[in-house]
Amino acid sequence: MVAIDQRPIGRTPRSNVATYTGMFDHIRKLFAATPAAKKRNYKPGRFSFNVAGGRCPTCEGEGFVMIELLFLPSVYSPCPDCNGTRYTQSTLEITWRDRNIADVLAMSIDEAHAFFTSENDVLRSLTVLREVGLGYLRLGQPATELSGGEAQRVKLASELQRAQRGDTLYILDEPTAGLHPSDSDRLLAHAQGLVDADNTVVMVELDMRVVAQADHVIDLGPGAGATADVSSPPVPPSR
Ligand SMILES: [Zn+2]
Repeated sequence: MVAIDQRPIGRTPRSNVATYTGMFDHIRKLFAATPAAKKRNYKPGRFSFNVAGGRCPTCEGEGFVMIELLFLPSVYSPCPDCNGTRYTQSTLEITWRDRNIADVLAMSIDEAHAFFTSENDVLRSLTVLREVGLGYLRLGQPATELSGGEAQRVKLASELQRAQRGDTLYILDEPTAGLHPSDSDRLLAHAQGLVDADNTVVMVELDMRVVAQADHVIDLGPGAGATADVSSPPVPPSR
């Protein structure tokens, strides 16, 4: 069973769309495979902001430093040494198609989709992220900045990019909340694809356009369904 809920994909700025979906592993390998990186013996880990090596030692790869204020809550400010790029200057000197690793993390998913043409391992993640309506997110956008609905769609995309094995029960909590109708339609096409591949999809959903496409509907709440018992007190709605 795969439960895809609205909980955050991470509680620190160290987790983001690129790391969560695994596509950053492929991107780091591309950078490590460039002639300039090989000459300096830079391995994929050099391009990680989560381990020491190529990341900025001042902010330890967060891009931000915490400034403690007397009598006031602490504030985050862009790191003065790396200017928020998260990396050391020598790491940033390595480019792949004229972009360094910080440039890539600053790209939106739509921009990255146009940039990583022919890199199928990276494109697979980017394609599903666009198809669940997240093309506007930046690759390096911290998980802490994502809404519950966005986090859920990142999880859904991560699941969709995997090889489908069938016989899996997917439970989604209002996956189309906040989505433009055209993006809802694309997300539903994916859900239908899961069903067509012999999986089961259970959705909590309020949008009647989405409900109308279900094979079975269980109507919950006050006055629900044809057999609702009107003599019992109504259950207060949960929201
Ligand atoms: Zn820094």
